[in-house]
Amino acid sequence: MSDLAVRVALKRYDAVAEAPAHVALRDLALTVRHGELVCLLGPSGCGKSTLLNIVAGLDERFEGSLSLPRSADDRPPAIGYVFQEPRLLPWRTVRRNVELAMDPARHGAGLVEELLAAAGLAGFAEAYPQRLSLGMTRRVALVRAFAVEPDLLLMDEPFVSLDAPTAQQLRRLLLEIWQRRPTTVLFVTHDLREAIQLGDRILLFSPPPGRVVADIPVAIPRDAR
Ligand code: ADP
Ligand code: ADP
Repeated sequence: MSDLAVRVALKRYDAVAEAPAHVALRDLALTVRHGELVCLLGPSGCGKSTLLNIVAGLDERFEGSLSLPRSADDRPPAIGYVFQEPRLLPWRTVRRNVELAMDPARHGAGLVEELLAAAGLAGFAEAYPQRLSLGMTRRVALVRAFAVEPDLLLMDEPFVSLDAPTAQQLRRLLLEIWQRRPTTVLFVTHDLREAIQLGDRILLFSPPPGRVVADIPVAIPRDAR
């Protein structure tokens, strides 16, 4: 598996209606090795979500280059994306929400069961999202992202607006699943403690327009954090 490499010379949003044009990212470059969990840390508005959208291929309107991790069989890389809001389909069960993004030709049914069980959701596979607590919907979103066996996992403040113990539970769950199924992760947060708990490395963003101003390895074993 190759590295993720992204370089953004300039990402500018055009003026729309009342909002003037402005530069979201400038002179940004980062490389992430296969299997690394890297936290992007910075204040709100510094372009972290913009960068994730570029890496996900959702936004192609930037000056620069993007090289995604590639597997040996040369299929396009599978990307898991966990948004701030869980974005589950309310008219589908937990299981069907998870299966939605999967490729039946690649993934056996056993994977869904394994991930739901790891997330403590085995008993809720046939439930609809409205029956779940907020923390549980976040767990479903996490399971759904791992169910595509991602070559790259993008997470955009996935645990905000949860109470502290629930957020802590979810961070542990993320690490548990990720250690069992290692993949390259970009994890966006504005919480330094969260970044230290999760990251192999922390990339610190400047105030807008965003660029990476520090690249900090976290040289503490995870079980000691
Ligand atoms: P975050 O919580 O990550 O800071 P924002 O509140 O900046 O997110 O953005 C939420 C959503 O609104 C994003 O999808 C973003 O693309 C969009 N958005 C943010 N700012 C603007 C803007 N000035 N004009 C249009 N869309 C915007
Ligand atoms: P962060 O995730 O670090 O909070 P964002 O990437 O959401 O930052 O936003 C960076 C800047 O770009 C903000 O000023 C935001 O308002 C603006 N922005 C985000 N999305 C859009 C959009 N679709 N159109 C115009 N401006 C946007």
